[in-house]
This record gives sequence, structure tokens and C-alpha cells, in this order.
Amino acid sequence: MMIIMKPNATPQQVENVITHIKAAGLSVHLSQGVETTIIGAIGETHNIPTERFEVLDGVQEVQRITKPYKLASRQFHPENSVFPLDGFTVGGEEIAIIAGPCSVEGRTQIIETAHAVKEAGACALRGGVFKPRTSPYSFQGLGEEGLEYLAEAREQTGLPIVVEIMSQTQLDLMVRYVDVLQIGARNMQNFNLLRAVGETRTPVLLKRGLSATIEELLMSAEYVLSGGNKQVMLCERGIRTFETATRNTTDINAIPVLKSLTHLPVILDPSHATGHADYVAAIARAAIAAGADGLIVEVHPDPANAASDGKQSLKPEAFANMVKQVGQIAQIMERRLAVVHGAYTPHGWA
Ligand code: PEP
Ligand code: MN
Repeated sequence: MMIIMKPNATPQQVENVITHIKAAGLSVHLSQGVETTIIGAIGETHNIPTERFEVLDGVQEVQRITKPYKLASRQFHPENSVFPLDGFTVGGEEIAIIAGPCSVEGRTQIIETAHAVKEAGACALRGGVFKPRTSPYSFQGLGEEGLEYLAEAREQTGLPIVVEIMSQTQLDLMVRYVDVLQIGARNMQNFNLLRAVGETRTPVLLKRGLSATIEELLMSAEYVLSGGNKQVMLCERGIRTFETATRNTTDINAIPVLKSLTHLPVILDPSHATGHADYVAAIARAAIAAGADGLIVEVHPDPANAASDGKQSLKPEAFANMVKQVGQIAQIMERRLAVVHGAYTPHGWA
């Protein structure tokens, strides 16, 4: 249930409402917008009459949240969630382009790629060190050694790092190194992992499961949010359909649908969505035109010899071209590409 405070409600009145919510055995989630303070009372609310809160001083109105996800819903948080990420923001006017290899394969590879993607206009670096491979015999990632290389790449370029976490046993290690915890498609409904990352205050990039509905994605986001971690980005990465021409089918619909259902930023991964380097730029352009807040793109200096996902990885030059096109579409959408310490403009480097 949402308790919407009057615009002139005092801090004491807000505090009093919070005390009453706790007394009813519910948890409190405060959403302080520019104009309105909304207090979420989350838990078993169906037996609690709204009048219990309506009578309190400073309360304008009490609404039940109709969706099964509460904290993730736009009803609870009407404004877009915008959160800072080392020098830029996600979810606002800026479009975040996260790029890098599927897997960190070695020091030179990741450092070289980091410089290349930064020069091309990326604002964050991706790279997996624990890989969710379909076969146990495929390359599984470099583990902590890979995190060390990523940290060095960040030091040299200033790009924050986005890395997939596969299990809660990796959490202590990961939060020491990474700027964004990626939850992969295969773990979207690993509820213990979602709860564990919800306990941290490290931003999360939550990928849609291979066969998950939009509502299931939002319910997974709810797990993270309910732990108090409000910095969740959602990622559409293609879903399984009958179509075999591409690795997955990009659900472009998901972008405007998610933007209307939730206040959380929405990112698109055109690499896993298509599985082919040749199609990545087209889908990246479509995503920004559809209203996505960012992209996560696989880039490799030598895709033919990549340890994973080479077929869908762009070479740095192709990525740079893609960024230029996306930058122009961003302008049409009255947005701009996020930059870290640099000065990328749609006209090139300033
Ligand atoms: C990845 O980002 O490399 C990855 C494994 O993605 P997904 O979880 O979307 O398959
Ligand atoms: Mn990959």
C-alpha cells in the first residue's frame, strides 16, 4: 500500500506514519520525490484497512498497489529512478553504453579493449570472470585474477566495471572490486542470489531470463529492491522463441512496456539478443529509438579467437561506428551519451 503525503507534510508527520506502518508489522520504503513523499507499506496488507493510515496527520491519500511487484512499480515511484555511477547517471537524460568482452581472457586483452571502448564512447566496461557456460568443459572464466585485470583497466581508463556474479558465495569478493553486479539471464530467478545482492548497496544490472515474462523480471527486481538496494537496472537480452535465425529474439516491445510499468532504468543487450555481430548495430539503434536508457555490448579485439561469444562480438572499429549512430539517435530522442572524464559529443571527441 502507498501512503501519499501532502506536499507540505512535516518530517514529524512522515515519522509518525512510519511508526504506524511498523506497528502494523509492515516494512517501510520511503520514496522522496521532488514534489511528493510516498511511503510504501509493504507486506501482508490485504487485511489492513486503508483508513488506518488515512486518518493520520499529513496524509493526502492511501492507495493499494495493484501490481504484484510494488517497489518496482511506477505507481509507487512515478518519476524515473536516476542513479549515479562514477561520473555519470543512469535512467535520466544520459544514455549509458557499457562495452567490453564477454569474458576477461588476460591482462592485455582487457586493458586493450578498455582503452578501445572508452575511445569509441563507452562509459563503462563489461567483462565476465565467472562465466555461466552451457558446457562444463567450456572456458569458465579467470575468477579473481580477472577482477584484478578489470580493476587495472578501470584505473587506467576511469571506466566503472560491470561484472556478472553467479553465486552468493562470490559476493564478498565481487563487492570489493566491481561497480555494478550483473545478474545473468540464467540466474534471474535465483532468489537467494537476488536477496544477497539486495543486501548490498552496489548497483545491479538484472538480465531478463531466457524464457521469463516481463512480470517475472519485475518480480525478480522486487527481490533486490525489497532488500533496500534501490539501484537496479533491468536488461532485455532477447528471449527464446521458435525463431532460430538469431540466437534469441529481441523483445523490443519490452522497452516501452517496462518504461511504462516501472521507474527503473532499462538497458538493452543487442549482442546476446541477436548472437551475430552483423545485427548488433541495427538492434542497438532500435533500442535507443524505442526509449532504452543504455546498451551493454560485447566488444573484442580479436572476435575470431575469443574464448566466448566471439560470433556476436564487435571489433572496436565496428563498435565505434555503432556509438556514432546511437549518438545521433540519442539526439533525436533529446538525450545524450554518458561520458566518463571524457568529452564525447555526437560530433566526435571535444
Ligand atoms: C553475458 O553477459 O556474457 C551473459 C552470459 O549474458 P546472459 O546472462 O544474458 O546470457
Ligand atoms: Mn556473452
